[in-house]
Amino acid sequence: MKVQSMKELIEVCEREQKTIGEIMLMMETEKSGKDQNTIINMMEERLIKMKEAVDCGIKDASTAPSGISGGDAVRMYDYVNQGKSLSGNYVSNAMSFSLATSENNARMGVIVATPTAGAAGILPGVLFSLHKNDGTPYKDLVMGLFTASMLGFIIANRSFISGAAGGCQAEVGSATAMAAGTICELKGGTPQQAVNATAIAMKSLLGLVCDPVAGLVEVPCIKRNVIGTSIAFSAADMALAGIESRIPCDEVIEAMYRVGKDMPRTLRETALGGLATTETGKQVKERLFCKKS
Ligand code: SF4
Repeated sequence: MKVQSMKELIEVCEREQKTIGEIMLMMETEKSGKDQNTIINMMEERLIKMKEAVDCGIKDASTAPSGISGGDAVRMYDYVNQGKSLSGNYVSNAMSFSLATSENNARMGVIVATPTAGAAGILPGVLFSLHKNDGTPYKDLVMGLFTASMLGFIIANRSFISGAAGGCQAEVGSATAMAAGTICELKGGTPQQAVNATAIAMKSLLGLVCDPVAGLVEVPCIKRNVIGTSIAFSAADMALAGIESRIPCDEVIEAMYRVGKDMPRTLRETALGGLATTETGKQVKERLFCKKS
């Protein structure tokens, strides 16, 4: 089975009467020659690694070796647990879990790149928030990882998923889009609705530049992951309410590709533009690497 576009994906889901996640599982079974249980178990191992990163991050208030990140996950987790968050339980928990994962990444802990290390906080953020808030079982979260994989597979093959290639729209943008479609499917949305959620999320981050301070995947990356979770929930909510993307998802992905191609090199992970070249950004770089930029 070959699926190369979101349009084809919806057609295959409808023809086979399967979810997006189930189609990914079928494709992976075909391609790898492994049986379904083996593949599901392998995916479950990834989910457990994600959970370990979250659990570690919400307890560990230490700073990263760079000294420019750390401690915010604990801060956010405590704030949310005091009932102070304005964002509602789903989003506020996802924010904490996303921070936890991204800070764990900055401390060189183990994370699961979804689709990249820089954007690794978004998917675990939303998945474990679903689990915490409505008891979505782990077996469904595993299937959610297949849903996210399918969406990411199409995005990667039609556009980019790395900041160096297409800016942060390709990295945090793709992860947010994958998470939005996944939430939608896990909450009972149709494949078309999940693809709409994917498109809505990606449109919202189109043009986002990659400008990591001192070239480290910390500032602004960690907080962009957090914001990605709230966009993912908003996009999923819109799609589940029956709102469609006026621009079809495949065209949104193509637009992301064109925007990435037009993006100057200074805004594609070189740390030569954007926030990386603010006064503070330059001072951080100088302090860390003892040279003027
Ligand atoms: S700013 Fe660049 S390095 Fe940071 S998350 Fe975005 S794409 Fe990745």
